[in-house]
Amino acid sequence: MNTSSRTHAGALLIIDLDAICENWRSLKSRVGTTHCAAVVKADAYGLGAQHVAPALYRAGCRHFFVAHVDEALALRPLLAADATLYVLHGAPPGAEPVFPAHDIVPVLNSLPQLAAWRALAQQLGKTLPAVLQVDTGMARLGLSAAELDLVSHDPDLLQGIDLTLIMSHLVSAEEAGNPINTGQLARFRAALRRLPPTAASLANSSGIFLGADYHFDLVRPGAALYGIAPAAGIDNPQRAVIHLRGKVIQTRLIDSGTAVGYNHRWTARRPSRIVTVAIGYADGYLRSLSNSGYAHFHGIRLPVVGNVSMDTITIDATDTAEGALQEGTLIDLACPLNPVDTVAERAGTIGYEILTSLGNRYARSWTGGQ
Ligand SMILES: *Cc1c(COP(=O)(O)O)cnc(C)c1O
Repeated sequence: MNTSSRTHAGALLIIDLDAICENWRSLKSRVGTTHCAAVVKADAYGLGAQHVAPALYRAGCRHFFVAHVDEALALRPLLAADATLYVLHGAPPGAEPVFPAHDIVPVLNSLPQLAAWRALAQQLGKTLPAVLQVDTGMARLGLSAAELDLVSHDPDLLQGIDLTLIMSHLVSAEEAGNPINTGQLARFRAALRRLPPTAASLANSSGIFLGADYHFDLVRPGAALYGIAPAAGIDNPQRAVIHLRGKVIQTRLIDSGTAVGYNHRWTARRPSRIVTVAIGYADGYLRSLSNSGYAHFHGIRLPVVGNVSMDTITIDATDTAEGALQEGTLIDLACPLNPVDTVAERAGTIGYEILTSLGNRYARSWTGGQ
């Protein structure tokens, strides 16, 4: 176990690296001979990329995606030379030389990025590896259809560039029946026909579950590695990865009719036991969980009552045995009984936002991953 040195923290965040690796292996087994990469941007969705990426490398993963070049620079020393590290945003203008100097591969998303990469290759007198992104419906990053036209008619635009992968990104892959998926698949195939023969990648986590047509040569899961359900309407096949436990810092008995917390958003309808737990919206326990979130104690579900504060939440623990909850007792705020997707649903958001909002005050520990 690898632990941060916050022995007096108000809450513990335990990250199960074995579960992450098992989730990667199960995704890998769904795609056969296709490479299974790992998306570890945003500090591995808030779970600690410096722990997650090396554990996934040991599990067999050799392709890693981050969003920013700074994220890649932080990870590069932790991964062996046979791991490829890709930057989804590509190089910020002027930062191109950082990529070959540190063995990092950019995703080229625009004609200016393509031109800058070509210029660097010429300047260094060698071909440089790159991924090319084409837009098939997101209208966010990647060459538009018109820009792709230009590139397909003028091979000089790829001069000096060793295209190792052509990729695109799905808009609504978690909705298996959405016709945007088949439309994007068709546009992606058409784009591939117009470019030199190159390995291809379309699927994020949910895309893997759309079937083999979407797998191509490499898939790019993020969320499903971290336990987020990849498809609506089916049981989540992925293992839960985080266990979030908050410490009780005070317990009190209140009379029926007593209101609790900021703005008195909740009033007891019976004599109640209220416990105050040291976690709040500053820790990513979102304020939208006011009067809506749940905690668990030995499997008993206990509602969050009143407004979530910056540093504390209040919980109705009337249904627990007298004395069971005391100062220092840990109660579960996210666990297999109350997974990230359920917390997200109660907060009116998605699991991705719950994970990436997790704050910096936890005593974090990472288990397994060897
Ligand atoms: C974030 C991201 C992914 C991973 O998506 P998940 O839904 O988390 O699996 C894959 N590809 C691109 C381009 C991304 O930005």
